[in-house]
Amino acid sequence: MTIKTSMLALAVALTAAPAFAEGELNLYSSRHYDTDDRLYTEFTEATGITVNRIEGNADELIARMEAEGDNSPVDVFMTVDTVRITRAKEMGLLQPVESALLEEKIPANLQDDDNQWFAFSKRARILFYDKNDVENPPMTYQDLAKPEYEGMICIRSSSNVYTQNIVAALVAHLGEEATAEWARAVVGNFARDPQGGDTDQLRGIVSGECDIAMSNTYYFARALRKDVSGLSDSIDMVGWVFPNQDDIGAHVNISGGGVAANAPNRDNAVAFLEYLASAQAQDYFSAGNDEYPVVDDAPLAESVKALGDFTEDAIPLSDIADNISAAQKILADAGWK
Ligand code: FE
Repeated sequence: MTIKTSMLALAVALTAAPAFAEGELNLYSSRHYDTDDRLYTEFTEATGITVNRIEGNADELIARMEAEGDNSPVDVFMTVDTVRITRAKEMGLLQPVESALLEEKIPANLQDDDNQWFAFSKRARILFYDKNDVENPPMTYQDLAKPEYEGMICIRSSSNVYTQNIVAALVAHLGEEATAEWARAVVGNFARDPQGGDTDQLRGIVSGECDIAMSNTYYFARALRKDVSGLSDSIDMVGWVFPNQDDIGAHVNISGGGVAANAPNRDNAVAFLEYLASAQAQDYFSAGNDEYPVVDDAPLAESVKALGDFTEDAIPLSDIADNISAAQKILADAGWK
C-alpha cells in the first residue's frame, strides 16, 4: 500500500517532466537500499545528469514499463535478481548496449549474451548455523537434504526470487530429477514453514527456532557492520559456510540493470550504467550495502572481507534464467511453501 502510494506520487512528478530532457535520467529500480542514494547523488555530481527515480516492486515496475509501451519515460531498469531482469529482456523492454567499457569491466558470465543487461554487484547465497547446536554443519547445498538435519532448516518461500534462483542453479548443475529429490528432502527438514526475509532466517538462529539458515551474505555482513535488532547482539553464535567449495562453488545472485527499449535519454542511460561499473560506484555497493563488487580490482568493505575468500559458482546467469520455470515447478511439487 505504501509502496503503491509513493509510486503514484513519484509517477505524477515524473510524467509532469518531459521524458526527454538534456541532463536527465529516468530510473526504475527495485533495489531497496537507502544507501543507493549516494550512488545517484555522486553520479549527478560527476555528470550533471539528474536522476529521477521510481522505486518499487520489480514485477510492478515491469508491468508499468509494459503498459507505458513506446511512451515510457524509463531510461534504465535496475533490479536485484536474474529472474526479473531476464523477464524484462524477454518481454522486449530492454535494448542492447554496445559499450567497450562495460564489456571490459563486467565479467562475461555476469552480463547478458545480447548485452541487454549487466550485473553491477554480487551476493553469495550461503549457509549459516548455530555454532552451539550444530556440530557438523552442511558443507554443500546438497547436504541440506540429509536426514540428520531434520527439523533444523529455515529458508525462504518458493515465491522468493532468491529461492527460485538457487534452485534453478541446482537444476543447471544436477538436473531436474536430482533437484526435485533434493527439494522434497529439504522440505522434510524444515524447522518451520518458510516465512520472512533473509534477516528473519538469521534471526531464527538467534531465537533458537532455526539451527541452519540460508541467507544472502550482505544481510549477515550488515549485522556485523551495524546494529540489526535480534541479530547483531548475538551474532557470535552464528557460524557460516560457503557451500560447495570443492566442486561447483557458492551460489551468487546479482543486482543488475539495462537500458530500456524506448529510453528517451539513451546516452545518459549508457553513461549511468558505465558509472555503476566505476571504482567509486563499485565501492558503494560494497561499503554501503555489503555486497561484492563485480569489477575485478574493486575494494571490499571490511564487513564483507570478514566473511573470507570463497570460490563462487561461475555458471553463466543465463543458464540459471533458463531453468527458472523448472525450478518453480520443482518447488511447487515438493510442497515448498
Ligand atoms: Fe535482498
